Amino acid sequence: MPAIAQNIKQIEDQLQQKARLIAVTKTKPVEMLEETYRAGLRRFGENKVQEMTAKYEVLPKDIEWHMIGHLQSNKVKYMAPYVSMIHSVDNFKLLKEINKEALKNNRVIYCLLQIFIAEEETKFGLSDEEAREILESEELTSLKNIKIAGLMGMASNTDDMEKVRMEFHHLKSLFETFKSYEKENVKMQELSMGMSGDFQLAVEEGSTLVRVGSAIFGAR
Ligand SMILES: *Cc1c(COP(=O)(O)O)cnc(C)c1O
Repeated sequence: MPAIAQNIKQIEDQLQQKARLIAVTKTKPVEMLEETYRAGLRRFGENKVQEMTAKYEVLPKDIEWHMIGHLQSNKVKYMAPYVSMIHSVDNFKLLKEINKEALKNNRVIYCLLQIFIAEEETKFGLSDEEAREILESEELTSLKNIKIAGLMGMASNTDDMEKVRMEFHHLKSLFETFKSYEKENVKMQELSMGMSGDFQLAVEEGSTLVRVGSAIFGAR
């Protein structure tokens, strides 16, 4: 079995169907994505719109594309025709832009609110309070072409696994709290947390989607 397929199998064995695997293919050449596809995986994650769109255009159309990187509003239009889920929504203006472009394409785009859970200052995301404000806002009700399907977070980049666990635990409890905010376009069902170094922990803490790059493809 080729290495990529072997790695995917090993990770999926560990997930035990508790969470779904997204192969993070950023910076990887199309040949590796084809190998991933042949291994049976259909969920790919990228962090740059231009790179994702170039790959989308040449690869089979039954792939689900997940945008996991920090996003500028002016790039939304390029992926609106095909993107499955945007994990990195960190402001209301962006949500409105996604809604506008989804409407133009006659689609509903699934979005996750990215919550800042780590200690580092470099990571993007909303505070718990800012996320709550979005979920409570009157205007959100009018956005018919997006669906807020859950939350995403990145834990601190540290060897202190207790700290990482606490960050995931916090995100999971926020996710549970936000379940009471359900409305037509809000339903907390996906919790995107866990990467190569911490996905086992994330699954133990309730992740439904893990985003794994280097454990499948090797270091970037
Ligand atoms: C790159 C990236 C990942 C994957 O990281 P690995 O450590 O290679 O598994 C996951 N999530 C986000 C948001 C990323 O940018």
